[in-house]
Amino acid sequence: MKEGIIFDIKRYAIHDGPGIRTTVFFKKCPLNCWWCHNPEGISPSKELMYFEYKCIFCKTCQLVCPLNAISINERIHKINRESCNGCGICSESCPTGALRLVGRTVTCNELIEEIEKDTLLYDSSGGGVTFSGGEPLSQSAFLIEVLKECKKRYIHTALDTSGYAPGNIFESVIDYVDLFLFDIKLFDEKNHIKYTGVSNKLIKQNLSLLLEKGRGKDIILRFPVITGITDTEENIESLASFIASLKGINEIDLLPFHDICEKYQRLGKEYKMPTNQAPPEEKIKYIKNKFEKIGLFVKIGG
Ligand code: SF4
Ligand code: SF4
Repeated sequence: MKEGIIFDIKRYAIHDGPGIRTTVFFKKCPLNCWWCHNPEGISPSKELMYFEYKCIFCKTCQLVCPLNAISINERIHKINRESCNGCGICSESCPTGALRLVGRTVTCNELIEEIEKDTLLYDSSGGGVTFSGGEPLSQSAFLIEVLKECKKRYIHTALDTSGYAPGNIFESVIDYVDLFLFDIKLFDEKNHIKYTGVSNKLIKQNLSLLLEKGRGKDIILRFPVITGITDTEENIESLASFIASLKGINEIDLLPFHDICEKYQRLGKEYKMPTNQAPPEEKIKYIKNKFEKIGLFVKIGG
């Protein structure tokens, strides 16, 4: 029985594929996109989130930490994240919920039990389960085991993926996934490396592989609209030509950027995006129009 590490399970999700769904968020991602909305999904380890507005500076966490990873000085709360091993003793002892441990280990059976709770809702709404993250393919052995169990139970499966995984790993999940929510961000490789940390070669190859296997109708592309990064005329034109050349994809969803600076602060992570960068409505309309011109159905939001 394999185990995986997840950081959230969202029930009654309506933006992660058709119908009413349960979305399972896997930890670990090989990308590090500047605008990532789930920065708690990037590291494979359990991490602490600190909510300053809930803290009463009682120093309980500092006292109980066996590794002395917390220091509090005159209402300044510091976590030494290099020393912290994610044991969770501090978050369990915190009286106000100012510390939350992100990430938990689950077995396939435990996860299936959670997913099965809403089977009736999936059936009545045409929904199912969506695996998101993080990048679920980063825990491919666990993912495949869970996918197989879902298939045995006739539960519709969607994979929300960056598409970044070795070809053999990507290929190994294809038969167990009903719908691919496939991110497409930047056409230019250098820009892709700059803003996500990895090349887009594998991503393009895996997308082509899906089409070669005749799965175009089972793909919804997801395009994050990030001001000054993905929404440039050059990128939109290049992506539109690339998608048109692939033939067989019908839909793209535009995901406009919104600011989540606070989440990064709570995790003690650097936030590279300038704030207040929500794309203007005219820009969204312009991009929608460009993708419609190549025959895609364009939805705004997931
Ligand atoms: S235990 Fe919780 S409330 Fe007390 S100092 Fe630590 S984080 Fe703040
Ligand atoms: S999670 Fe454990 S090691 Fe990390 S700060 Fe809390 S008590 Fe210390």
